[in-house]
Amino acid sequence: PVRIYDVITANLASQPSAPALEYGDHRWTWTEVDDRIRRLAQALRDAGVEAGDRIATLDKNNAACLELTFAASLIGAVNAVVNFRLSSEEIRYVLDDSQAVLLFAGPDFVPIAAGLAAELPHLRRIVALGGEDDEYEAFLAGADPLTEVFAADDDTAFLQLYTSGTTGRPKGAMLTHRSVGSHTARVAPAYDMDARTVNLVAMPLFHVGGTCWALGSMYAGGRTIVVRDLVPDQLLALITGEQATHVFLVPAVIGMLTQVPGIGEAFASVKVLGYGGSPMPLPTAQAAVATFPSGLYSVYGMTEMSGTFCVLRPEDHRDADRPHLLGSAGRVIAGNEARVVDPATGHDVPVGQPGELLIRSEQIMSGYWRNPAATAATITDGWLHTGDIVRIDEEGYVYVVDRAKDMLISGGENVYPAEVERVLTEHPDIAEVAVVGAPHPTWGETPVAYVVPAPGREIDPDALITYARERLAHYKCPTSVVVLEALPRNAMAKILKQPLRDRAEQLVN
Ligand code: AMP
Repeated sequence: PVRIYDVITANLASQPSAPALEYGDHRWTWTEVDDRIRRLAQALRDAGVEAGDRIATLDKNNAACLELTFAASLIGAVNAVVNFRLSSEEIRYVLDDSQAVLLFAGPDFVPIAAGLAAELPHLRRIVALGGEDDEYEAFLAGADPLTEVFAADDDTAFLQLYTSGTTGRPKGAMLTHRSVGSHTARVAPAYDMDARTVNLVAMPLFHVGGTCWALGSMYAGGRTIVVRDLVPDQLLALITGEQATHVFLVPAVIGMLTQVPGIGEAFASVKVLGYGGSPMPLPTAQAAVATFPSGLYSVYGMTEMSGTFCVLRPEDHRDADRPHLLGSAGRVIAGNEARVVDPATGHDVPVGQPGELLIRSEQIMSGYWRNPAATAATITDGWLHTGDIVRIDEEGYVYVVDRAKDMLISGGENVYPAEVERVLTEHPDIAEVAVVGAPHPTWGETPVAYVVPAPGREIDPDALITYARERLAHYKCPTSVVVLEALPRNAMAKILKQPLRDRAEQLVN
């Protein structure tokens, strides 16, 4: 694996004046990027941040978030990147859990953060990022570049990203120098990135699909452009204006773009169009093959793996003899070992049979921050349990057939029903609730809530949706609420979700 700051120093040595990082009107060379990050690191230290501390960033995509991740690592601290789409209660939870001592918040988020500050005992300061009262540039400019760098070993955490889970609360996945470093060194060649690469980072930096995708082109010595908002017109203007060669999008966005007339020409410069994070419906995959001249790379990845571990390459997308490959998530990237096991017994299943995918790799996170129980349940004997049910054929192509974990994916964002159920159960009108995913033409899936009223109460579905939207990120909120007298249960009184999923499918169709 590479020590992450080597990504910068290697380019500083080989091409100091080459363009490195771009954001809005800003363009920085490797010399400037190195100088900014070292100043930031010193400013963090001056502000009292110590090795092992967490800082946090809360903004739409902003190059500062990448700078802060690097700067924190130079002093042995860790940047926890907060999902800006979360509700304020969820943001409070993540900031509290991370124990962040310093928060860098975009102009839209400073008021939210300030309102939460009294409930965050570890938080010492909020620094406004951009906007009229930009404190960030002054913060950075006020310090001399750090010279003495923290001696991180491979196990040192480098980046903290939050994922949800069946426990109903987000968990901070600690990605280390080893995990991110090995991912970076593997994916840059896997996506054919080199010094000519012009990479658009349009996915959120609070996901591996944002930050770790950005690290690939930085490692390869290309230009990395951070896209603040994913607005289709602006994205297309950037692609043509900058002659972008690489961009990563989620299947839902690819699906929308295939509907835009003339989109193929707009993508003329794009050599690599990566997509993933959720399954792509076959008709969308076929439309993408017909629409885009770019090389399509289907990506199967996971936060806990620092990003990608399977890729379906362009030639596989257009293999006339093997059209079934279009439904595959690709082959496991060299350096990752895969096993498929029976989830009940833990024994390996015969080749071609479905089972839970386990991965052993240097890319695996060191664990969840301050959550040894969840870590122990996820990683056993060095094997990461993906919670995905897959089948791997004789040639090594992986097909994701189901999920063992109770999760749905809406527009590329994971939704854990347990989290939505926890919030809805707190509503006084509700006795019981079960949330399942229903197919959705644009977002892939959408949450549907089945609810049983509390005795003597009536449920107003619209009011319940509003209630959810005040407490949860909007993509997690049910789009339909169905009132039932009782939830289907088995003999052990466990709620049976499959009949509800079947019902939800009919509800949508
Ligand atoms: P995240 O940690 O948010 O990246 O979510 C990881 C999960 O998303 C995986 O465990 C899968 O369930 C799902 N996922 C990611 N990529 C794909 C893909 N290409 N096909 C099917 N499911 C995917």
